[in-house]
Amino acid sequence: MADPLLKAAHLHKRFQALLATDDVSLDVMPGEIHALIGPNGAGKSTLVNLLAGGLKPDSGTIELQGVRIDSMAPHHRVHAGLSRCFQVSSVFRNSTVRENLMTAVQAVSSMPLRPWGARHTRYLELTDRVVELAAQTGLEGSLDMIAGTLPHGAQRQLDVALALASRPKVLLLDEPMAGMGPDESERMGNLIDRLRGEMGILLIEHDMTAVFRLADRITVLVNGRVLASGKTDAIRNNAEVRAVYLGT
Ligand code: ADP
Ligand code: MG
Repeated sequence: MADPLLKAAHLHKRFQALLATDDVSLDVMPGEIHALIGPNGAGKSTLVNLLAGGLKPDSGTIELQGVRIDSMAPHHRVHAGLSRCFQVSSVFRNSTVRENLMTAVQAVSSMPLRPWGARHTRYLELTDRVVELAAQTGLEGSLDMIAGTLPHGAQRQLDVALALASRPKVLLLDEPMAGMGPDESERMGNLIDRLRGEMGILLIEHDMTAVFRLADRITVLVNGRVLASGKTDAIRNNAEVRAVYLGT
């Protein structure tokens, strides 16, 4: 079996009296969509923040392709190949889609634009990459729209595009379909499905139709602890999971 891309082991995180992450271990394999589900307050976003570096674990380890990343700053984790989308959109609402993407592409570019030499070639490379990201996320027709005027679903597609700018090996998605209608959810589901194989994905999502359709594996988090983890069909038929989370 291949080595995991991302491997978290025995993570703990306490907020005062609350143990928000209680001995959580989880990995993401190459090309897989691993869904993280659980009731509100289970600790899903906290776990994503620990993985991405917004929060420091009290104990435990995180490895990306075998390299410890748990003391790296968030932007170093992005350079190492770990990228994330927030539960709340992080697009620049007053800028166009193209400007949003250009900012992201430049931010992760190894060679910043300089006022000399290969500037023009470099600029064309960046603009090509912007068009490529837009096409990959279904935004090719919206490049000159002001991001804040896009429908909610397209704004979330832009969030994914921004996260893809760094060519991540692992992508963390925190409720990408929240607040979407069925058409928007389906579009986002198709987008996530297309990314499968190119990277490992950790998908937090409440829409169980989408989770059962997309996930290769599911981990269920309750009160900061892993209640169950396994192949999608096994979790779907797990009596304890059905009782605690699926309500059947
Ligand atoms: P989920 O994403 O599964 O809904 P969260 O990870 O957002 O859950 O929250 C888990 C628990 O930790 C909740 O009880 C929440 O109130 C608490 N929590 C989250 N972030 C903080 C924080 N920065 N300080 C204190 N408590 C927090
Ligand atoms: Mg959350």
